[in-house]
Amino acid sequence: MEYLPLFFDLKHRSVLLVGGGDVALRKARLLIRAGAQVTLVAHSVNDELARLLATHNGKVILGDYGAEQLRHKVLVLAATDDEVLNEQVYRDAVAMQIPVNVVDNPPLCTFIFPAIVDRSPIVIGISSGGQSPVLARILRSKLESQIPVSFSRLGALVGRLRDKVKDRFSSVNERRVFWEKVLQGQVAEKVFSGRDQEAETLLLQQIEAGNADNQTGEVYLVGAGPGDPDLLTFKALRLMQQADVVLYDRLVSAEVLELCRRDADMIYVGKQRNNHAVPQQDINQLLITHAQAGRRVVRLKGGDPFIFGRGGEELEQLKEAGIPFQVVPGITAASACSTYGGIPLTHRNYAQSVKFVTGQLKNRTTDLNFKEMITPNQTIVFYMGLHTLDLLVEGLLEHGKPADTLIAIVSQGTSEQQRVITGRLDNILELQQQAQLEAPAIIIVGEVVALQSQLSWFGKEVA
Ligand code: SAH
Repeated sequence: MEYLPLFFDLKHRSVLLVGGGDVALRKARLLIRAGAQVTLVAHSVNDELARLLATHNGKVILGDYGAEQLRHKVLVLAATDDEVLNEQVYRDAVAMQIPVNVVDNPPLCTFIFPAIVDRSPIVIGISSGGQSPVLARILRSKLESQIPVSFSRLGALVGRLRDKVKDRFSSVNERRVFWEKVLQGQVAEKVFSGRDQEAETLLLQQIEAGNADNQTGEVYLVGAGPGDPDLLTFKALRLMQQADVVLYDRLVSAEVLELCRRDADMIYVGKQRNNHAVPQQDINQLLITHAQAGRRVVRLKGGDPFIFGRGGEELEQLKEAGIPFQVVPGITAASACSTYGGIPLTHRNYAQSVKFVTGQLKNRTTDLNFKEMITPNQTIVFYMGLHTLDLLVEGLLEHGKPADTLIAIVSQGTSEQQRVITGRLDNILELQQQAQLEAPAIIIVGEVVALQSQLSWFGKEVA
C-alpha cells in the first residue's frame, strides 16, 4: 500500500492554503465542508474564494507567503502555479513536521486527497496512489451512481439510535445481525422513499422487539425505459439488483432483465394485444402474495409505469392490501423515441404543446377526441397505434387536419432494430405498407417531424 487512508478531523483546526485561484477555491470548499478554519495567503484572491472565506470564518493574508504562517497549522496546502514557491512551502512544512499537499504534484506531498463520495456521515475516499487520478474518479462516479444520496439520512438515523441498539443487545454478533437486516430492509427503503419519520418509528419498534425481520415485503413499481439499459435510472437499477422476485412485461428488453439480481425469481406476465398472458387481476394478486410472504418484488414495466402502464391500478390494489410500495419513473416511449428518432416533441417554431394519446380503440371504432388534435402547433404522440394507423389517419383527416400534415413512425425505439419512417397523412399508410415497421412503435404527428431529416442521429432510417 503506497498511502494509508485515514480520515482527518479538521473541525475548528487551522489549515494554511497558499494560492488564490480556482484550484485553491476547490480545496477551500473541501476544507470548509470538513469544518476547518482556513487561512489563505496569496497576492490576489478571486471573488468567489474571498466570499467563501468571509462567510466561513476564514482569514486572508494578501501578500507574501512566509514560513512563520505555518505556526499552529495542522495541515498546509499549496495551490499556486509558482513552482519555486510550491517547493518552498513543501520544504518548510516538512521541516516543521506539518502534513503538506502541493496540488497535482505527488512528489511534493506527504498526504494526498482521494476522490470522494460524500454521503456524510458515510464518506468514501478512493485513491490510486497518485498513479491515475482519472481512474479513481471513474471509480468514484460508478459508486456515486450506485449509492443513493439518501444514504446520508440513513447513516444519520442509525447514528442517532446506535446507543439504543447497544443497550438492547449485549453481544456484538447480535448487533451485527440486527443492523444487517435493518440496513437492507424496510427501514432503509423507507428512508430512500423519503419517509424518514416512518423509518424511525419502525426502527424503534424493531429495537424494542429485538428483531428486524421483514414481516411484509414491498413492491417496487419500476419503469424500465424503452429498452436500452443505459436509459435506466440509478434507482431502478438498485432496486432491480436487490429484488427477490421480478414480474416483467413483454416490453422489457432482455438486456434490462439481465441486470436484475441473478437469483431473483423471474416471472413473465407480459401482455400482447388481445392476448393477455396473465390477466391483470392475477398480476395484482401475484404482487400481493409475494409481498405478503416478505419478499421484495420488482414489477418491471416498459417505459414509465404511469404512462399507459396501468401502474395506478396495480398500486390501488396494493394500497388496499396494506403493502408498502415505491414507484420509479422510467423514460417513456414518446420521449425515448422522439430523442432517438431526431424529432423534438416541442420546438419554438413548430409546437408549443404535446399530447400523448392511446391509439388503442375499442372495437376499432373511433372513440378518440380528434377535434382537439387538429389545431396546429401541437405534437400528437400515439401509443399502441400501429395496428390502428389507418383509423387514426382517417380520424385526423375527417376532422380537418390537412392532408400534408407530417407524420412519423418510430419502431423499436432505442434498440439496434430502431427504424423511423416519415411522411404525410396522405401517404403514410402506403409508406408503412412498404416498410412494414414492427411493433412496438409510436406515431408522431405534427410540424416537428420536419426536423427529423436534420436531427436524426441514431440507427438506420428507411424513408
Ligand atoms: N408505459 C409505456 C407504454 C406502454 S403502452 C411507456 O411509458 O413507454 C405500449 C406502447 O408503448 C407500444 O404500443 C408503443 O406504442 C409504445 N412503446 C413502448 N416501447 C417502445 C419502443 N421501444 N419503441 C416504440 N414504441 C414503444
